[in-house]
Amino acid sequence: MTSNNGNEIRKVIIVGSGPAGLTAAIYTGRGRLDPLVIEGYQAGGQLMTTTEVENFPGFKDGIMGPELMMEFRAQAERFGAEFITKNVTKVDLTGDIKKVWIGDDLYLARSVIISTGASANLLGLENESRLMGRGVSSCATCDGFFFRDKTIAVVGGGDSAMEEATFLTRFASKVYIIHRREGFRASKIMLEKAENNPKIEFLTNTIVTDALGEDALTAVKLQNTQTGAESELPLDGLFIAIGHTPNTQLFANQIEVDEKGYILTSQDKSHVTATNIPGVFACGDVQDKRYRQAITAAGSGCSAALDAEHYLESLPELEEVSEPVAA
Ligand code: NAP
Repeated sequence: MTSNNGNEIRKVIIVGSGPAGLTAAIYTGRGRLDPLVIEGYQAGGQLMTTTEVENFPGFKDGIMGPELMMEFRAQAERFGAEFITKNVTKVDLTGDIKKVWIGDDLYLARSVIISTGASANLLGLENESRLMGRGVSSCATCDGFFFRDKTIAVVGGGDSAMEEATFLTRFASKVYIIHRREGFRASKIMLEKAENNPKIEFLTNTIVTDALGEDALTAVKLQNTQTGAESELPLDGLFIAIGHTPNTQLFANQIEVDEKGYILTSQDKSHVTATNIPGVFACGDVQDKRYRQAITAAGSGCSAALDAEHYLESLPELEEVSEPVAA
């Protein structure tokens, strides 16, 4: 088994690189904690698949999600953050020295900040997976371009569905929003924007029961939740925008999570980002099922960095780090 720099024990490892992780990297970098950011193969988090971000303070004309994340990352690098663009494969966070593996490579740290975010949910239809990338998508920004002058549908009734449907009208000739209820979770302003878009048609009280097509999506089967009536809707594209699941599988059995898998924080009185394990902090969407905004994620990343710094200061032998640690 290989290890990192002869088992160098770092002050902090940050796992994940959305607004939370990168803000934690900026703050811990400026705090001279020499952060190592294991940013994952899908670095940058959910904003990498978002179009224009209009509500991040400081950008009065808006900024594209990927561009915003590149700015975050460059700022973290400026303060000495190191990056590894791979996925963490295993952790052991239980002891004073935290162990983080990427394959056979072991990285050690006195503290870990978890900012692994959340991933898009799917409907769970067999043909949805089979046709993923062949008409079915969970990322409008990534795939919208392929649907120029096509007919598509977005499933969901939240802000994501409204945002994606509105964005997709740039390409598609027609966009259906298929929502399982009459009422919407989406904010009023985003709902209104979609309602006022002449290319968008709402199909409420409707669920998708199957995706049809051999090599590519050709239609979906629908069911009205009130009448039970079934129908078929010809489509070129189906975008799933039904929420997210926190990426906490890696930490199962070590970090306490709620019934939906979100990490439970504020587990000690003085640190809002504290998990149940001393020295392990969580920030961003991985622990936030309520606000889930880039700015709140960034804010909690700042808190996690300050919490980690405070925790490290409380360790008497911070500078004396050399004892070999068994993998
Ligand atoms: P969300 O608010 O949780 O909405 C998910 C939607 O999908 C709900 O309408 C839900 O229906 C529906 N849904 C869930 N499971 C389903 C299933 N199996 N089949 C059919 N429909 C299903 O998720 P979100 O839209 O991704 O938004 C998440 C958070 O990010 C929110 O806080 C939102 O405000 C924020 N956000 C903000 C922006 C922005 O400001 N630019 C953009 C995107 C997202 P029910 O309503 O019936 O439960």
